[in-house]
Amino acid sequence: MQQWDVIVVGAGAAGLMCAIEAGKRGRRVLVLDNGKRVGRKILMSGGGRCNFTNMYAGPENFLSQNKHFCKSALSRYTQWDFIALVQKHSIAYHEKSLGQLFCDDSAKDIVDMLLKEAKDANVQLALQQNITAVSFADGQYTVSTPELSQQCQSLVIASGGLSLPNLGATAFGFQLAEQFGLKVLPLRAALVPLTWQPADKAVFEEISGVSLPVTAEANGTVFPEDMLFTHRGLSGPAILQISSYWQPGEDVTVNMSPQTDITEFLAAQQQAHPEQELKTALAKLLPKRLVEKLIDIKAVNNQPLKTLHSKSMRQIADTLHSYVFKPNGTEGYRTAEVTIGGVDTDGLSSKTMEAKHQPGLYFIGEVVDVTGWLGGYNFQWAWASGWVAGQYC
Ligand code: FAD
Repeated sequence: MQQWDVIVVGAGAAGLMCAIEAGKRGRRVLVLDNGKRVGRKILMSGGGRCNFTNMYAGPENFLSQNKHFCKSALSRYTQWDFIALVQKHSIAYHEKSLGQLFCDDSAKDIVDMLLKEAKDANVQLALQQNITAVSFADGQYTVSTPELSQQCQSLVIASGGLSLPNLGATAFGFQLAEQFGLKVLPLRAALVPLTWQPADKAVFEEISGVSLPVTAEANGTVFPEDMLFTHRGLSGPAILQISSYWQPGEDVTVNMSPQTDITEFLAAQQQAHPEQELKTALAKLLPKRLVEKLIDIKAVNNQPLKTLHSKSMRQIADTLHSYVFKPNGTEGYRTAEVTIGGVDTDGLSSKTMEAKHQPGLYFIGEVVDVTGWLGGYNFQWAWASGWVAGQYC
């Protein structure tokens, strides 16, 4: 039986950060992962360039049953701390938009940085490990794989959520939480495309590939970004963001022209070009294929602008400023970037990430019921919660 101070399960963003910090404190740390490589989600994140944090990250960018829980970790290890680490390793990066920071070259720079830090902190890594059992007795955890049993004082669970099962995602962390009496809040895929009802699919799949800036609203939350029509449904950053707030059976209301008031626009067009067709005028504001489709399905009626009364202008404006889609569902964990829900924060200390009633057991990163918006927030939570646990485990 091998003896460690700390075993971390999961060599992703949160697990590696925690292992590095614990290693720096002189703890003997082993990281176990089921994959062939560390940081597989980091490598494929941000289109291969890893949106590693967000300059404006704050507690308001996270969903959780307890929205205060993330505050402590986020304030103790901030985006600026992570940016300083990236700078220390001379990794070139840039802001894409909205405070989102990406590597100039490759996400591999971030994984290499974490591996270098882990090596310097004497962290041991064991990959392709299949954990078959975890038990606790006399203040020690025993973690068993078919080959070996290992013991530790502190067990840190950083096994992530359920998204991308073909990349090694498992329910391990949730099952372990329940084994030790922690509550797991309902799980669902988030930051995920929404899918069409069969009738809408027949209508809209023809315009797949069309994208436009919108605001998308569900449950009173609104995101201004681009929306993309796909063969399966709606996607693009505005839809991914709103998918975290949308619940099955609900509507998503889309403002197709958030910058321009359509009533005013049509009145001005009517004055300037009375003979012009409505569809020609609208195509100055919206993608032409979308306008043609809306006319096709009689969401708006094409006619010369001179025949439009102010009431019909307002009706057209109402339709386009608040177009209601009723999604069938989401594409699920196959394409979701994150899992909402997870280990209930009620059972964890926000200061240390340790289970309140199970000494030495820690949960960090996505396995916890803290989920960020799209835009680098999920990694910031992984870094921050991992860093915090690394100070105590
Ligand atoms: P993970 O990174 O998922 O790591 C968990 C690790 O545990 C994995 O290596 C897994 O193989 C391992 N594991 C699981 N089960 C077991 C087991 N039973 N035994 C041993 N090991 C196990 N967030 C951003 O902020 N910016 C982005 O640009 C971004 N892009 C993304 C793109 C995609 C396609 C996806 C899917 C997600 C993206 N995210 C992004 C979200 C982000 O990747 C996650 O929130 C983050 O990786 C969570 O970190 P984690 O360490 O908690 O879990």
